[in-house]
Amino acid sequence: MSFDMTTMEDIVSLCKRRGFIFQGSEIYGGLAGTWDYGPLGVALKRNIQNLWWKTFVEDREDMFGLDSAILMNQKVWQASGHATGFNDPLVECSECKTRLRQDHIRDNKCPNCGKVGKFSEPRQFNMMFKTSVGPVEDESSTSYLRPETAQGIFTNFKNVVDSIYPDFPFGIAQIGKAFRNEISPRDFVFRGREFEQMEIEYFVEEKVWEAEFEKWKAEFYKWFEAIGLPKSMVHELDVGEGDRAHYSKKTIDFEFDFPFGKSELYGLAYRTDFDLKNHEKSSGKKLTYVPKDGGQPFVPHVIEPTFGVDRTILAVLVACYKEDEVNGEKRSYLALPDALAPVKYVVSPLVKNKPELVKKAREVFALVKKKYGAVMWDDNSNVGKRYRRADEIGVPKCITIDFDTLEDDTVTVRDRDTTKQVRVKISELDENFAKNISAV
Ligand code: ATP
Repeated sequence: MSFDMTTMEDIVSLCKRRGFIFQGSEIYGGLAGTWDYGPLGVALKRNIQNLWWKTFVEDREDMFGLDSAILMNQKVWQASGHATGFNDPLVECSECKTRLRQDHIRDNKCPNCGKVGKFSEPRQFNMMFKTSVGPVEDESSTSYLRPETAQGIFTNFKNVVDSIYPDFPFGIAQIGKAFRNEISPRDFVFRGREFEQMEIEYFVEEKVWEAEFEKWKAEFYKWFEAIGLPKSMVHELDVGEGDRAHYSKKTIDFEFDFPFGKSELYGLAYRTDFDLKNHEKSSGKKLTYVPKDGGQPFVPHVIEPTFGVDRTILAVLVACYKEDEVNGEKRSYLALPDALAPVKYVVSPLVKNKPELVKKAREVFALVKKKYGAVMWDDNSNVGKRYRRADEIGVPKCITIDFDTLEDDTVTVRDRDTTKQVRVKISELDENFAKNISAV
């Protein structure tokens, strides 16, 4: 069976069964649009975030990191246009009273009760979660949970320029939570009310925005490859003027073939100088870059590549979920790139009732764990079953210690994707050993 037949049921049940993702507040019946990442899910998430940070911040000279507060002065959201413009059209089905996002209705039919054409007039619903800061609840204490991480970058533009004085062009990157009171959260973690974003604001001169936009488009394709998303499952959508966010002059959505249909995974937007100009006007602070060659100070324009963390996790699981047959038995496995695998190696003694084998296996486990961290011990049931359990969560290699190990200090290393086994000397279980295996 190939991955394009992967269903949401396959992914959701794997996530729950093996501890990747649970429903938020599950023991109380849940809270719509919230999800909790379990032991394997948080490892996968961190691996994705770390790879992203390495790729887009550490490996470049023109990018700087940031971690700004989720709560911000309400003036930020007034200046950015979110307080008045971050709306979705809400309609109510007059038959079953379900509230729906108007642009999500297909064929004028209520997805809940099936009635056709029975909707109220749309009203604009602001998606920001409102809260109150401090003990007194009044107009001036109003704040919002940020609906995007981007504004924290714009409001710190001056701080970064003044403290780092980077060459131009340059970018600021941030990973963090964002909150949107989605009218109908759905499709597992695809549309949540609390989610995470990895965002970049890349500051450019207006006259070169198109070339910079193209460069960033190419960066997305390198990233898709690094996280194991086949190019054939990704599609570009040039978003029409009426559908673009209020700040954007050009947007490309990167859509992915999710099991529920082709939907937005990431976005690339040209935000012009909209945000910095508005913050300059509202705050009265100069938000300019002063060229190092003595040129005129100017307010930069911005290219924004934005990556949803949760949608990345879902896309990666969908793309990497595979089923095949081994020795006449059906197996499912996650063909995750090594960098994303939540567990890198499983170490086991062939059997657990031979103390000398267990002792030796414990030694190998300690050695490998010290080096790679994300290493698991498994001595339950038989070797075949252990391999299946490891395959299901995407462990690239399993190491088994047997009686020969006691004689010659070699172990069996078994590959997830090919199921091939080779014998490797313990002393050669170093960083290169993955390469040795794939050469077999
Ligand atoms: P959609 O049209 O699906 O509502 P959007 O165009 O509003 O998404 P953006 O404002 O471009 O999304 O947000 C940037 C990124 O954040 C998206 O590409 C997506 O990966 C992620 N994202 C947005 N909304 C959600 C959500 N409700 N749950 C999970 N991820 C989200």
